[in-house]
Amino acid sequence: MDKTIGILGGGQLGRMMAQAALPLNIQCIFLEDQADCPASQLGQVFPQNTIQDFAQQADVFTLEFENTSVESTDYLTQNKAMFPPRLALATAQNRLLEKSLFQQLDIPVAPFCGVESLDELKQAVEQLGLPIVVKTAMGGYDGKGQFVVKDKTQIDEAWRVLSYAKTLIAESFVNFSREVSIIAVRGQNGEVKTWSLAENHHHHGILSHSIVPAPQSDDLQPIAQDYITRLLNHLDYVGVLTLELFVTSDGLYANEIAPRVHNSGHWTIEGAVCSQFENHIRAVAGLPLGCTDTIRPNVMVNIIGEYPDKAKILALDCVHLHLYNKEEREGRKIGHLTIMPNQAEERSNLCQQLATLLPQPLALTVDMKI
Ligand code: AMP
Repeated sequence: MDKTIGILGGGQLGRMMAQAALPLNIQCIFLEDQADCPASQLGQVFPQNTIQDFAQQADVFTLEFENTSVESTDYLTQNKAMFPPRLALATAQNRLLEKSLFQQLDIPVAPFCGVESLDELKQAVEQLGLPIVVKTAMGGYDGKGQFVVKDKTQIDEAWRVLSYAKTLIAESFVNFSREVSIIAVRGQNGEVKTWSLAENHHHHGILSHSIVPAPQSDDLQPIAQDYITRLLNHLDYVGVLTLELFVTSDGLYANEIAPRVHNSGHWTIEGAVCSQFENHIRAVAGLPLGCTDTIRPNVMVNIIGEYPDKAKILALDCVHLHLYNKEEREGRKIGHLTIMPNQAEERSNLCQQLATLLPQPLALTVDMKI
């Protein structure tokens, strides 16, 4: 093996990074307490209490989850590099820092303010007007740690539900028509490459499926590219970065960044010339980046909670199946499919057939216009 990359976390993202690394003769190892984690079939797993051995065996570090403590990454980076850089990690962990950065870089964002007391929440309502979305500044994901305040009678309840967190953020409610994400990669030489915008659909706060390219997004793509490039350059970023955006009648509004490969980019494994996983590995290893062009329009569907009948899924043409080696559990992402037929029409048919094969309720039928 030419190089060993130490990945913080051994979930499905770590697994897919390692799958992309192998053909490049790059080995991945994982800092992860769960011995039988999804990535365990691809490389050695080190529990936290063996972090010294992990640190010694890797040449360079990266991560699959942004809520990794900055302090533990500081330990690892005493002698070796970690990508993404510390600033990106610290920014992505705190919604206030993140939204302030959007403002600083002239990236449109909903008006927001920090909240640390019930009084401040009341002031935020006066300042921003209603409705607002109140979120914990740190630690929430998949819509957890949020409360939509629609009228003033809900202010006390919102405070009661969320005041376990030290700092909250109150944001104006964005009247969006759809949610999209842009994923880009920056190399160690500063080169930036961007994939097609994905249109993302959620079910109970969890990504259900992504349509690529996002329909009617020709005008949005260059704007989103410009925004993410500003972020990458400002953060002196290396690796893959994701920017989630709201589409409104006024244009794009930034919601959040993820300093890592992202679920809405799983389609790139088959749907792009070079996937987000391979390009992240290339960037972290200091190699030239691959082409991010889309091969064909596609739909990525998450498998959530329960496995479908594998043979029936694979009997469909043009469907790629990825299973993550995870136990079934309600609300858990345990695999995904990428539907990539030649014709848009076939894609609609396949989506309909798939909807009958997947155990989870899937709102794919609403996307028949794609
Ligand atoms: P987040 O954890 O910030 O990604 O938020 C989870 C979901 O809540 C988003 O995907 C949106 O659907 C919704 N959401 C978050 N912030 C806002 C906002 N300011 N206005 C309207 N909807 C929001």
